[in-house]
Amino acid sequence: MHEETGNDKPLVLAGQEIKRGQWRAVKIPIGHMVTHQQVELIVHVRRGRKPGPRLLVTAAVHGDEINGVQVVRRLLKLSLKRLSGDLILIPVVNLPAFLGRSRYLPDRRDLNRLFPGSESGSMGARLARVLTDEILIHCTHGIDLHTGAANRPNLPQVRYSPDFPEAGKMAKAFGAPVMIESSVREGSFRDVFCQRGKPQIIFEGGEAGILEPASIQLAFKGVLSTMRYLGMLPRLKNSPEKALPVLCNSTWWERAPKGGLFLPGAHLGSVVSRGDLLGEVVDPFGKETTPVRASRSGVIIGRAKNAVVDEGDGLVHLGRTSHPHRVMNNLREAEEALDHRLDHPVFDDYLED
Ligand SMILES: [Zn+2]
Repeated sequence: MHEETGNDKPLVLAGQEIKRGQWRAVKIPIGHMVTHQQVELIVHVRRGRKPGPRLLVTAAVHGDEINGVQVVRRLLKLSLKRLSGDLILIPVVNLPAFLGRSRYLPDRRDLNRLFPGSESGSMGARLARVLTDEILIHCTHGIDLHTGAANRPNLPQVRYSPDFPEAGKMAKAFGAPVMIESSVREGSFRDVFCQRGKPQIIFEGGEAGILEPASIQLAFKGVLSTMRYLGMLPRLKNSPEKALPVLCNSTWWERAPKGGLFLPGAHLGSVVSRGDLLGEVVDPFGKETTPVRASRSGVIIGRAKNAVVDEGDGLVHLGRTSHPHRVMNNLREAEEALDHRLDHPVFDDYLED
């Protein structure tokens, strides 16, 4: 099914050849910080014994988006004895931003706008260059794990470019409640994947700075499902038929009609019709209340948690879909899959291979 057999070729990272069947961690130096500390890209490589695709799973491209770090940690604990192809895992891509608990690099740049990067540029540009020329070059497929920004949680969702049918199939296999066709931003990691004709999907779930069990569990299972679709792991026998993700082909924000305090009235994942109440903006100095209503029908895929808002601030992020009723089923199914651990920490020992 997959013509690209990524691991037919030798794999050399940072001058080290990694052979089939080997499991290695490689450190690639990027540059020094103000403290003289070396910034390194820590890359884990698991090479299967059999040929197959070479999948790159990355997390913390934005340094404060840490759900994906925990997803990669859990992937690292799997034995993967029956792996076909290679799995390349980078738990923390943007180390300087991760140290600063920040989305951005210390020079306030967004790593996800600096691709393909350059050898003589800023720290972020050098990091982007290594990812492009030394990692991506070896890979056939990618999954990049993100969250919403701080105080802007996202419903678990997968984004992909509609120009890449294979990315659409990966998004479907990943099995998040919602999949969103989204255009590619110039300078993003996905942009260089697209330019090289390689499919990459983006997972978004939860918010920055917080380990959110539901999103972590969903993404962990999503990576394994995608690997099964790619033929990297055997298909599960007798697995129950999974609900298809609901496709959203456009998204929009409902914004604050005026400044004030926002009182939300609908949850992530809620399906709303045009005119439904999403919340209220109230005047902090008086009694005035202004309703915020959905201008179109859709599903709530993200929302702002900050209560103090200026006129025009994004309050509720919605996706347009022709199958709104299926979203609720998918969410129910996702919750069941979570084994009712929604408000618990994510235990490392809760694994499957
Ligand atoms: Zn992000």
